[in-house]
Amino acid sequence: MKVFFHTLGCKVNRYETERMLEGLMGVGFSLTQTPTDADLIVVNSCTVTAESDRKTRQITRRYKRQNPSAVLLLTGCMPQAFPDDAASLPADIIIGNGSERNIVNEVQSFFENRSKIINVAPHFTGELFEAGALKDFSERTRAYMKIEDGCNRGCTYCIIPKARGRVRSRSLDYIKTEAENLASNGFKELVLVGINLSSYGSDINLTLADAVKTAANVKGIERVRLGSLEPDLTTEALLIELKKIPQFCPQFHLSLQSGCNATLKRMNRLYTAEEYLAVCDKIKSLWNNASFTTDIMVGFIGEDDNEFNESLDFAKKVRFLKAHIFPYSVRQGTVAARMSGRVSEQIKSKRAEIMASTCDDISKKVMSDIIGLTRSVLFERSENGFTEGYSEDYVRVFVKENRALQGRVVKVKIKELMLDGVLAEPV
Ligand code: SF4
Repeated sequence: MKVFFHTLGCKVNRYETERMLEGLMGVGFSLTQTPTDADLIVVNSCTVTAESDRKTRQITRRYKRQNPSAVLLLTGCMPQAFPDDAASLPADIIIGNGSERNIVNEVQSFFENRSKIINVAPHFTGELFEAGALKDFSERTRAYMKIEDGCNRGCTYCIIPKARGRVRSRSLDYIKTEAENLASNGFKELVLVGINLSSYGSDINLTLADAVKTAANVKGIERVRLGSLEPDLTTEALLIELKKIPQFCPQFHLSLQSGCNATLKRMNRLYTAEEYLAVCDKIKSLWNNASFTTDIMVGFIGEDDNEFNESLDFAKKVRFLKAHIFPYSVRQGTVAARMSGRVSEQIKSKRAEIMASTCDDISKKVMSDIIGLTRSVLFERSENGFTEGYSEDYVRVFVKENRALQGRVVKVKIKELMLDGVLAEPV
């Protein structure tokens, strides 16, 4: 029996796909990259924007058309947040995102009875982080590890707390076991991810630094990176602890959303632009090789030209290495869905374009700043005469093709800017 996965959305979803795959492989499935070959097709969905929902609907219908004899399973955040919408799609099995541990039972039950299954259990207070540890990961150099799930915050635009439930954190024992499994399979870099990663440990009396330390102390793990962080929870105490961990990569993905205080207030984000900048300054005082990446939303309810320009100027001030820009879209059931002052689609896409091109220019400047400096790079693959990988501060680095470097962390000297990264030489 063959299974095909289509994963939408964030790194947490990517991780959960691996857990589901491992469970299914345990009962005899093998992975196929071709949906028309599959006996089981799994769509692991995302619901962060209206566009994510549209994609989920589109691919679910497409797979049913392409391979009507395969069993189609829809899971992830979309059915969890909008079970009625999901039920109208032509999937045979519809389960929520807490069901990765149950997927095997649901699939086996469908193959026995051939009757549609809809089982979206709501999240509940007191829910625990799922037990167990991955044995392997499909990517070859960098593995994601989910260490936290859920969010207790109330950003007015966000549907994710409904789709993910309350904060729950993974035990250090499972972090250690999974890091050991991954290291024994040759992984050198781990990216710790979560829904609200900064809240890691708040329910089990630990801190994010404890999780990083645990993963970093595993033999064979040479680098540990973090997923998205909340600026107001990126405290000086946390930064000082992270600084003590030599394997920690100082790439800080600090979620911005807007650089305008009035917009941030309507979003119910719990920091001001000035406080955000102060966190960046603190980071720069601790690491001389730190970089900043972020997410920026444009066209939130009530955002006028002045507010947008404030946000744009702020992005220039922080100097992001990379920024993910996306237009606001209404999510039913959120506070913002009831606010007045919606921005037209046309203005939103114009602003997204301006913000993206400004951030691209900034990114080039940030990369130019490291010309002549040394960085350490984990080389991942070779293509078109180059071997490439990422530096500790997440700059894409190319060297002249040398396959012997693949899978190794190597010091390089940065030489010049390229189209989507920098050219370097090993030192
Ligand atoms: S912190 Fe805000 S944006 Fe992030 S998941 Fe929680 S509610 Fe959504």
